[in-house]
Amino acid sequence: MKPNLVIGNWKMNGDQQTNEVLLRNVLASQTNEGHLEVAICPPFPYLASVAAHLQDTNVVLGAQNLSPATHGAFTGEVSASMLRDIGCRYVLVGHSERRALFGETNEVVAQKFAAAIEQGLIPVLCVGETLDERRAGITNSVVTTQMTAVIKHAGIEKLTRGVIAYEPVWAIGTGETASPEQAQAVHQHIRGVIGSFNKQAAIDLQILYGGSVKADNAKALFSQPDIDGGLIGGASLDAASFIAICNAARINPRGTA
Ligand code: PEP
Repeated sequence: MKPNLVIGNWKMNGDQQTNEVLLRNVLASQTNEGHLEVAICPPFPYLASVAAHLQDTNVVLGAQNLSPATHGAFTGEVSASMLRDIGCRYVLVGHSERRALFGETNEVVAQKFAAAIEQGLIPVLCVGETLDERRAGITNSVVTTQMTAVIKHAGIEKLTRGVIAYEPVWAIGTGETASPEQAQAVHQHIRGVIGSFNKQAAIDLQILYGGSVKADNAKALFSQPDIDGGLIGGASLDAASFIAICNAARINPRGTA
């Protein structure tokens, strides 16, 4: 069974000085206790300096985005091989802010997912419904469609080499959190979709919850049977909150000993 996983997504925040203080505090608190991996996804310009700070620690590096292309005339883009080269282990793919603000379609997200796998990165596929979609009762079908785009483009085997983050759009950065039961229901659905292709891969898959996870709601969310950790935005910018969230995830994955 893989460990739980907590990923901090700094989004477009921070500078060299604030990053250093934040990292110093976060790293000072890291222990090997519990079944947990911690990753941090800073903005592109800070990947190298954060990588240097993370060297010889048990916190790993991730990126927030990548290009679907391998190299060439794509001004402003960053390739999967560059992310590998700088030391990334994870890369977020299809975050709702990229889908909503930068027009990323399910197809583009699927191409990015495949590009990450090709270079040995672990893509974290973000899926989730808007408030209107939840109210319309189509949460599961929205999430299935988002996953199916990757399965069609890359195949089920590649999808299961990644991580899935269920992030209801209405809960991201809003202070609204899905209840543990609401989140669990969608996580169970996601695992079921994978299980219809490959039962063992479904058991092995890490499915994270994201959407206003805070120190005071993390434990209840992470204790759900199909929630294997979290993708943390705002609260990852505050060392004490992020540390508390990480500690809440230092529990045995899905009841293993
Ligand atoms: C995110 O950016 O993926 C996220 C979940 O943000 P927040 O924790 O701020 O809702």
